[in-house]
Amino acid sequence: MEKIRIEKTTAPKPKCDVSKIGFGTVFSDHMFIMDYEKGKGWFDPRIVPFAPFMISPAAIVLHYAPEIFEGMKAYRTPEGRVQLFRPIENIKRMNISAERMCLPQIDEEMMMEALKEIVRVDQDWVPSEPETSLYIRPFMFGTDEQLGIHTPHHCIFSIITCPVGSYFPEGINPVRIAIEKDDVRAVKGGTGFAKCGGNYAASLRAGEKAAAQGYAQVLWLDGVERKYIEEAGGMNVMFKIDGKVVTPALLGSVLDGITRKSLIAILKSWEIPVEERPISLDELLEAINTGRLEECWCCGTAAVISPIGELAFDNKKYIINDFKTGPLTKKLYDELTGIQWGTRPDPFGWTVPVI
Ligand SMILES: *Cc1c(COP(=O)(O)O)cnc(C)c1O
Repeated sequence: MEKIRIEKTTAPKPKCDVSKIGFGTVFSDHMFIMDYEKGKGWFDPRIVPFAPFMISPAAIVLHYAPEIFEGMKAYRTPEGRVQLFRPIENIKRMNISAERMCLPQIDEEMMMEALKEIVRVDQDWVPSEPETSLYIRPFMFGTDEQLGIHTPHHCIFSIITCPVGSYFPEGINPVRIAIEKDDVRAVKGGTGFAKCGGNYAASLRAGEKAAAQGYAQVLWLDGVERKYIEEAGGMNVMFKIDGKVVTPALLGSVLDGITRKSLIAILKSWEIPVEERPISLDELLEAINTGRLEECWCCGTAAVISPIGELAFDNKKYIINDFKTGPLTKKLYDELTGIQWGTRPDPFGWTVPVI
């Protein structure tokens, strides 16, 4: 494994008050970069001052979008240590996304070392106020200077980081979600299971439409029948119906969220039944109308857990749990964030110390 070269900035930026910045607007002083060339593999892993890339206007990513990314966080514990949460899951998922998009695989150990090293170099950027963390964004894209459509032969893998507070300025308060019936995010056989920029580009229009009506996110239906619930914009979704937690199964169009996976493990350890299966919109609306939908929430790394207070579909509004955070939602949030920030024991061995 090639050693990571480190070039520190001579002009460190002043640290900011994370409670006053939006999500992903302020970046730490350094970035990780590594180059790829077909035949040669990955080379020159380095940590350098945060700066723009030089790429050709013909770079393949700007035209045909071979781009994938990950999202994870470094958490400051009460003792002042810094830890990652299940980073191996992000590394494996990055390679799954890469395979789908014909981008090169990354050596798992190399990526783990890069993640730890960028956090070590910018450790002063890991905030310590409650609910804050250093968001880590690994990403990869093709840079070939050629407009012919082909598999990328030249790529950049990079990691940037940014201190973040709570994803939603309102904190863990219920959000309003609009169920989208026209646009779709993904289909089986498509790229829904991969974390790629293109999925997001195609989601923006529905997001804009929902935002104009005061909704925080879109809840997607399946792309074929528009009948089954899939997931929210960048988060998975869970429903507590009749004492059981139901979440859409991973059938190729839903992203395999690490928060989702972790909540399922926690729920099972509490002996709360969890069902991973298709859930139709009809079944959901029926559960709401008969008062059996007790709570529901979205989950993902950025916001951890967002209780859903209102669902809207076809000009009808459905209020969930009196627009209040449900007890199980709160209990899950406290348990998962407790493990992540090191204020609770980690019985699953999910955290990985960095410092
Ligand atoms: C990243 C992402 C999620 C959440 O995954 P986590 O690993 O829990 O952060 C869910 N859906 C989509 C579309 C995503 O991109």
